[in-house]
Amino acid sequence: MTVLGDYRVTKSSAIRTVQKVKSEWESTVDSVAELIFIVRKDGVILRANRTIEQWGLGDVENVKGRSLHELLHPSCNAKKCDLKKLLGLSDKVLATGETLEYRGFDLLLNRNLLIQLIPISVDEIHTSGHMAIIFRDISQLNLSGSHLTSKSNWTSLKANNVGSSADPNNSASLDAERQSLASPELNFKFIEKIKREWESAVDSLPQIICLVNGAGTVVRVNRAIEHWKLGDVTLASGRNLHEILHKSCKDKDCYLNSLNQQIASVLAKGQVAECQKQDVVLNKHLHFQINAFSSKHSPQSGLAVVNITDITDIRHVELEIGCLNTKLEKRIKSRNLNLQKINLKLKQEIELRKQAEAKFKDSRQKFTHLVEMMNEGMVIQDLDQKISYANRHLLKILGLPRTEVVGRKFTDFVDVDYIDSWVSGGLKNSKSVESSYVFKMKGKAGKALWVKGAPQPLLDADKNCVGSYAVITDINDQIEIEQKLLRTEIKLRSLAKQVLFAQELERKRIASELHDGIGQTLSAIKFYVENNIRDLTETPALSASEQFASVIPKLQGAIEEVRRISMDLRPSLLDDIGVLATLSWFCREAKQASPHVDFSFDKTNVNELDIIASLKTEIFRIVQEAVNNATKYSRAKHINISIKDANKSIHLEVCDDGIGFDYTKVASQQGYSESKGMGLVSMRERVENSGGEFSVSSAPNAGTKVICIWPKEKRAFIDNRSGRRDRRGR
Ligand SMILES: [Zn+2]
Ligand SMILES: [Zn+2]
Repeated sequence: MTVLGDYRVTKSSAIRTVQKVKSEWESTVDSVAELIFIVRKDGVILRANRTIEQWGLGDVENVKGRSLHELLHPSCNAKKCDLKKLLGLSDKVLATGETLEYRGFDLLLNRNLLIQLIPISVDEIHTSGHMAIIFRDISQLNLSGSHLTSKSNWTSLKANNVGSSADPNNSASLDAERQSLASPELNFKFIEKIKREWESAVDSLPQIICLVNGAGTVVRVNRAIEHWKLGDVTLASGRNLHEILHKSCKDKDCYLNSLNQQIASVLAKGQVAECQKQDVVLNKHLHFQINAFSSKHSPQSGLAVVNITDITDIRHVELEIGCLNTKLEKRIKSRNLNLQKINLKLKQEIELRKQAEAKFKDSRQKFTHLVEMMNEGMVIQDLDQKISYANRHLLKILGLPRTEVVGRKFTDFVDVDYIDSWVSGGLKNSKSVESSYVFKMKGKAGKALWVKGAPQPLLDADKNCVGSYAVITDINDQIEIEQKLLRTEIKLRSLAKQVLFAQELERKRIASELHDGIGQTLSAIKFYVENNIRDLTETPALSASEQFASVIPKLQGAIEEVRRISMDLRPSLLDDIGVLATLSWFCREAKQASPHVDFSFDKTNVNELDIIASLKTEIFRIVQEAVNNATKYSRAKHINISIKDANKSIHLEVCDDGIGFDYTKVASQQGYSESKGMGLVSMRERVENSGGEFSVSSAPNAGTKVICIWPKEKRAFIDNRSGRRDRRGR
């Protein structure tokens, strides 16, 4: 309740006085941070303070007559708008005369607001039907979240363009106000009304707002001092601020004493001064703002508006925020430190992992290379027995490209007869590493392949079976060699049979020669001697010497015959005069036996000493056989024997100019024919057994050439083998 103080109420001076007070209040209201509206109960704005311009909501003059809701929420179409709801409570406010307070966040204004609806009273009892609506931005205070929690939130609002034209009723009402200015009586009432309205609004503000003169004396003050418990508002006028705020303060250096100087300075320079102080007497943190007061009616009023706001809460919040900030910074710092440590550790781990990976990759590559290049087949199967890997060698064994192997079942390549043993073998042998067995596979175009191997379980790091692998060994070559050996064995057996047969034949020949030759001769000598003995007994006159002299040539023939047979068996000349001389002798003997054939014997670069003892027998036997064949079957006119030392080998050739034969035909038939004795086969065996190579070239009517070549370096080997045989032979 503000009194007009010492202003006397005469009609014209009263108007001036009220006008002045109204201006003073108006100006005061303009200097506060709160947004203040004087509103009709239907929400139409009658007046607003200049804060509206700071909030960016338009010009103070242009908002008059507009709906408050439309002004603040230009695009709001929400049914549950809290502001709308609040304004709807105007009737209640006016009826009860009680102030309504609301806190909440306004999404459209983007501010945390404290809104007060204050009924404006004309006198102690009656309300004017108008309200002061004060918007305080408490965003800053609400930061702490503990001091001013919102009682309710603003509903979220949809944007929608709503016209902001003034209501015709509002214009009428405002017109009435304007018209009232024509009559001094009405004018006075009107100004009085406005003054009251502002007064009410200002009185409702929490801060102390006072009008002081240049000397610091209070001219007017709002009711806040009563809320601050600093005494009745009526008693404040005429005292200075220090007296009002610090009733019993005797401190001459009290900061409030310096306030007067500030006021004077502000009035002199026309500026705004601000300061904050921790007031120990009031135990409040205070914010002071000093504005020079001016109005249309008194531009140089010599007055100042002092706003004293209790910002203890804000201060607390600030301190708390500061404290929280420090704590937060500490936490962030320690967190950062931790993070750095973790990062470092992580980096090290990554580095280690990278190295391990590189090592793993390297060893894997090496391993893969090893497996890929190894000389055994390698197959890896998954749990479905599908091939996931096959190395190069396995592909080579199968003769198939990788694309036709990988992805198929291994059993697709196993011969039907062996699939069971492969599968069950793998299971049975899963514990034994060394087991492997021979089985048959099907390669390219179903080609049969003999291999050896068995599947082994493939375990992962946790010893779980993830498939199987097998090393597959190609044993086709082995089997081929085995078969070859078998064939050779058969051949050898047959050969041994032939040798026995030949020996038998030779024995037969020798026996028949002994029987027909020496036997006949000896029988004839026996018969002759018996006859002569009988003759001598019957007729002693006969001369014995004459009788027996004719036995001598017969005995000589027998001796010759024995020599011939023993020479055939093994010429002693070979040991006595050497193979070369023996061959010369043989040619002469052959010529005697076959006078119609010419024989020649060539020896080139050959030294008797270069031919080892065992080879001499072989050479002689081959020449004997070849010449025997030629004289018996070829009808040759000339037979040439040549032996030559070709540095690294000894060459023996027996050529004739006979009728020849179809070698391939004869070789296949003749083989083991009895009539020709050992023939070509025995010659071949002799040469090959003594480490040489044997060949025959012949064609019908083109003669025959038997060629034998013995490498000299195999001497020792031949020596040993033949030596043994020779000893046994003797
Ligand atoms: Zn709204
Ligand atoms: Zn003081």
